[in-house]
Amino acid sequence: FAKKQGGDGFQFASRSISEMYEKRLRLETRLRRALSNGEFILYYQPKVDLETGAIGGVEALLRWDSDEGVIPPGDFIPMAEEMGLIIPLGEWVMAEACRQLKAWHDAGKNHLGMAINVSVRQFTAPGFIAAVKRIIQTSGIDPRYLTLELTESHLFDDIDEKIILLQSLKEMGFKLSIDDFGTGYSSLSYLRRLPVDELKIDRSFIKEVSDRADSRAIVSTIIFLARSLNLRTVAEGIEKQVELEFLQSEGCQQYQGFLFSRPLSAAELFAKLE
Ligand code: C2E
Ligand code: MG
Ligand code: MG
Ligand code: MG
Repeated sequence: FAKKQGGDGFQFASRSISEMYEKRLRLETRLRRALSNGEFILYYQPKVDLETGAIGGVEALLRWDSDEGVIPPGDFIPMAEEMGLIIPLGEWVMAEACRQLKAWHDAGKNHLGMAINVSVRQFTAPGFIAAVKRIIQTSGIDPRYLTLELTESHLFDDIDEKIILLQSLKEMGFKLSIDDFGTGYSSLSYLRRLPVDELKIDRSFIKEVSDRADSRAIVSTIIFLARSLNLRTVAEGIEKQVELEFLQSEGCQQYQGFLFSRPLSAAELFAKLE
């Protein structure tokens, strides 16, 4: 910290940098404690079948219920990844999502599926497969009800290593999805080699569907590509009826979005299923 008052521009700059650094450090300390304090919660957003209108499954979305209010994942996941905290945190997410799904199955919603976001940092960490096996055993959930969502960024680096990992998850029965599809750098030849089941079309394209022909073209092309490769398509972030109708006409299979429902607490989600 610059101690002298009324300093020059350099002092101002170094002061704001150290303030930023302190703020970051504080967030890091709070985040480290949050897991043992039980401050994380999962919300669930319905995934709706475009043909039947039925809720086929839900996506688990992480929230941090901190002493300074509820913090969305975009504000702490990057830091959790840098800190390595994403590994125990990601395990907590998977265990909690499986526990909740089992409770819903036992309550009669036997066909409900659950999608879980997994960061590449978490899934390439040593011990990931062993942790997944442990969670599956403890929860008693059949992995065929589970979809793991992986974002495109970094998925295509060291592709051979990723293919081996994805293959073992497939063999266990999981479904695999590429999240935010279209925003990363997936090469089509790599896409063919990845044992995935689903492409999830990013919201950035969906929200432009009503007023941009190029975005409509991109969405149609992704759906066409997916169908040609025998993959399912899910569209994320549907807010308007016109977007829904467009996806329906293009043959997309499932959608998620505020138009149908925001992410809900477990109790609210169950009420919606009923
Ligand atoms: P995502 O997996 O692509 O999730 C979709 C995001 O879009 C969610 O934001 C959801 O609330 C939001 N969304 C859904 N429908 C609409 C809509 O109609 N309009 C708008 N404006 N937004 C909509 P959220 O919950 O803030 O999550 C952001 C990202 O954080 C997720 O993007 C995912 O990449 C990451 N994330 C969330 N939970 C986890 C987790 O447990 N583990 C990891 N590694 N990442 C997670
Ligand atoms: Mg997702
Ligand atoms: Mg997504
Ligand atoms: Mg997204």
